[in-house]
Amino acid sequence: MSSQTSNNTNNKTLFTNARVIDGIADQASSGMSVLVEGERITQLKQGDIAVSDDVKVIDLVGKTLVPGLIDTHIHTVMMDSECFPLFLAAGVTTARDVGGRLDLVLQNKEDLNSGAKLGPRLFVCGPLLDGPGASFESPGFTIMLDRIQSVEAVPGKIGELLSAGVDGIKCYFTMTPEIVRSVINFVDKRVPVTGHLGYCSSMDAIEAGIDGLEHVWISPYNDICALNMRFGNDASMMDPSFWSTTMAGWEEADLEGDRARKWVDAMVEKQVHMGTTLDLLWTAKAGLEGALKDQDRKLIPPAALARQAKMKKHLGDRPDWDIHPGFFETGAGSLALEKHQQITRMLHEAGGRVVGGTDCGALAYPPPGFALLREIELLAEAIGNMDAIRAVTSVAANYLRADKDIGAIAPGRYADFLVLAGDPLNDVTELRTLETTYRGGQAYDPKALIAAAPQHEPEGL
Ligand SMILES: [Zn+2]
Repeated sequence: MSSQTSNNTNNKTLFTNARVIDGIADQASSGMSVLVEGERITQLKQGDIAVSDDVKVIDLVGKTLVPGLIDTHIHTVMMDSECFPLFLAAGVTTARDVGGRLDLVLQNKEDLNSGAKLGPRLFVCGPLLDGPGASFESPGFTIMLDRIQSVEAVPGKIGELLSAGVDGIKCYFTMTPEIVRSVINFVDKRVPVTGHLGYCSSMDAIEAGIDGLEHVWISPYNDICALNMRFGNDASMMDPSFWSTTMAGWEEADLEGDRARKWVDAMVEKQVHMGTTLDLLWTAKAGLEGALKDQDRKLIPPAALARQAKMKKHLGDRPDWDIHPGFFETGAGSLALEKHQQITRMLHEAGGRVVGGTDCGALAYPPPGFALLREIELLAEAIGNMDAIRAVTSVAANYLRADKDIGAIAPGRYADFLVLAGDPLNDVTELRTLETTYRGGQAYDPKALIAAAPQHEPEGL
């Protein structure tokens, strides 16, 4: 593999003179030495680390190290495996698949974690678990979906997933409160349970002991928006009016009010992780023109493009069809996005746990890896640069219950870190000055990974 350097013979590398943002501390530290042995960091200290002459030394003077980034919300079955290296190219060294057919996601996990395929470490949840109703009917999407149609069916389905070795359970939109509660009780904290909730209110799920919520703009919607703007228990995300209704509901939502405050308090008290997925509303900020000029568009997976092409009869034949899912007009929703950022800030400032996620794969845009850079940029506007970085490193690792292995530059953890030419504390977009990605001590050249990935020349570039 041309993008991968070979290990030196003694399997040790010393990095010197680095400025380190470790993913945990409040400040960066300068003049740091990092010793990597095999896949892991074994020493980290300010100043020199004495090593024998045969240890490879890499001088990082002028560079900044940050931990490898973690995307807590992706769908690998919806993208081409040739696109997996794009995660590393963007600095994402770990991702969690939150919905896909069990055998397929387990295979992707094995391929990626063993190194048979190039890409991030992968955690998996198995399929999205709907309740009695099905959120999708189109075959392009049902590959993500399974259902638990009654409380009685919980032990069978969840037992099967847990014994197959999933790293989490994901309750989906039509799952009823009774079934959500039963799932949480049956799992009994063996793995984290998260929810992209609709028919079950997030307040009920928090009370029942859920570990995470996905999409700050959907899961808590009914708990926060005005009563007359709520969607009911027959709502479908496939209904075109669903998105305009929820966007309008957010625009009008009173975030200073009682209901928002109660939600924040409950999230903080139970330390529930909020996977924000702000990136899906990025077009609200960029506008159509900005989005059409976006270079990242070239990297949208071919499978996602093909799926969107099939949906053209719903979306209409227009140049922005590969940018957004057609649920709402490009450029619309900027006030709603500000509200999502505001509730994220409120949660963070109250001591809640904000983590980044992107939904890349399920929706075509933004593309793998680079979607998380968008997410971090929107998170940084809400909670600041350092905390946005922590949200996608140490806090995300905590959500995945993998603090021992990932999420920080610290002795004992995997040597998953990024060499940056710029300073993301000064400007978080400088995460894009990535020069080398290390996953488990192996170096990858982002430019070579991008050059090898499938690309297309979309209209408008
Ligand atoms: Zn998703």
